[in-house]
Amino acid sequence: QRVGFAIVGLGKLSVQELIPAARTSEHAYVAALVSSEEDKGEAFARAFDLSESDVYTYDEFDGLADRPDVEVVYIVLPNSMHREYVTRAAKMGKHVLCEKPLGMNARDAQEMVDVCKEAGVLLMTAYRCQYTPAHWAARDAVQGGTLGKVKLLDSMHVQVEDDPTVWRLKKELAGGGPLPDVGIYSLNTVRFVTGQEPEWVFATMHQPKKDKRFKEVEESMSFMLGFADGVVANIHTSYGAFKTDTLRVMGEDGSLLMDPAFKYEGLQLTLSSEAGKTMPTFPSYDQFSLEFDHFAQCVRSGKQPWTPGEEGVQDHVIMDALYESARSGKVVKLKAVKKRDAFR
Ligand code: NAD
Repeated sequence: QRVGFAIVGLGKLSVQELIPAARTSEHAYVAALVSSEEDKGEAFARAFDLSESDVYTYDEFDGLADRPDVEVVYIVLPNSMHREYVTRAAKMGKHVLCEKPLGMNARDAQEMVDVCKEAGVLLMTAYRCQYTPAHWAARDAVQGGTLGKVKLLDSMHVQVEDDPTVWRLKKELAGGGPLPDVGIYSLNTVRFVTGQEPEWVFATMHQPKKDKRFKEVEESMSFMLGFADGVVANIHTSYGAFKTDTLRVMGEDGSLLMDPAFKYEGLQLTLSSEAGKTMPTFPSYDQFSLEFDHFAQCVRSGKQPWTPGEEGVQDHVIMDALYESARSGKVVKLKAVKKRDAFR
């Protein structure tokens, strides 16, 4: 039996990607919608074959407790609202899938992990790239030795943010600028493909406060992650330059390029060595549908998801250190953390 999800927040991601993806998912379906505008919710309900009673306003959110068919609550709200809704869902006994970044900072995110543990429900951070065949092929190439000993990595994730009124540019709603919104993809993917955790970080950021978009958050951040054996990743993220999303890994015997690396579709992987270039291809897939399927299967089996809440906390620990480094102009050392086991 498929697992019913309630989608909370009917913004661009939910409407354009998640709800359509759930329709092609093997193990999940959308059982309810929670929206700020009742009418919008009802219109979407009709469009997606749900009935009016499946549509809730934020004020009616707690009514999901009386819906045994809703086994998972998927939080797709501005970042500052994640903790409140994760907590309320967990206290109803619902499993929770939460969009990235998990919270506003490491403490906020850790509280979500604790609350879900206490309530005995699963918490998954929605890191879609970690469910994507192209990203697993990159990870296999890096960890399987295809590139030889890995030495250097670089990644860029840049998206233009033009509207100064958008919640993404409000510190109290977003927690930061491009770093927690798009730079997090570079950070998370570098950790994912190497399977390593950084030992230190160094960051510099630019915030032109005269530009009304960047009164509260940074326009750009550039940072280094230092791993064991002198391996270094250089990452750039920005809301102010031409849109770009790339990942490059350089080893002793070869290199890997993903470009685009973080889009919803059309990811392109190129492996280069003295022998030439190869570009692996993959059967067609939908990243969001794979993500839904993974969590639905975890709910049925009781197994922890591959990207649990703790994975979201670890990115926050690193992002907190990056902001500290950008403020102080100094290298910030990180505590050693336990690495994860592969899920396949
Ligand atoms: P959005 O602005 O398109 O939608 C936000 C939703 O929250 C809307 O339905 C809006 O009505 C509701 N909302 C409630 N209170 C609000 C408030 N005070 N201000 C603004 N909106 C409010 O945002 P989005 O792009 O759907 O992002 C939502 C979450 O999803 C964020 O955490 C974001 O980081 C994440 N996201 C993830 C991906 C991905 O690829 N995984 C892509 C985009 C967004």
